[in-house]
Amino acid sequence: MPTTILVSACLLGIHCRYDGAAKPDLRVKDFLIRKELIPIPVCPEQLGGLPTPRTPCRFAEGSGKEVITGNAEVFSRDGCRLTETFLVGAKETLEIARQCGCRLALLKERSPSCGVRQCYRGDHLLAGMGVTTALLAERGITVFSEEELDELEWCLQGSRFT
Ligand code: SF4
Repeated sequence: MPTTILVSACLLGIHCRYDGAAKPDLRVKDFLIRKELIPIPVCPEQLGGLPTPRTPCRFAEGSGKEVITGNAEVFSRDGCRLTETFLVGAKETLEIARQCGCRLALLKERSPSCGVRQCYRGDHLLAGMGVTTALLAERGITVFSEEELDELEWCLQGSRFT
């Protein structure tokens, strides 16, 4: 049975970023083809109902982990509280993962939704997950960033996911 993997849509060339741009990553594309993975493109911020382009967002405190436990908030740069919107996007992404049988995700580093190891709090880049990554990880989905293709390859070689 083919292995599906959630992938941040911007990494696949979809123009869904806050500035209306894409962030296509040829290494990601080549990896997916080489490993015969079936990508399921998702943009949690669009799934939450945000427009494209949109004002970029940051954590006021904490990171995605604290947002999903109700202990932190996400704000747009112009001061709108968007915590609930980010949670809706994370839940919709989780539902897509369930529907498509994804137990793996490959998401865009440093995004307030998709970040895996780092995200912005105010103007500072700090350790922490995005909101969607935190929810997926909590529900047992193994998440890698586009900067962790070697780690994803090792994980696949462990054959737990194939
Ligand atoms: S929310 Fe994720 S998929 Fe959407 S633009 Fe941001 S990093 Fe890309």
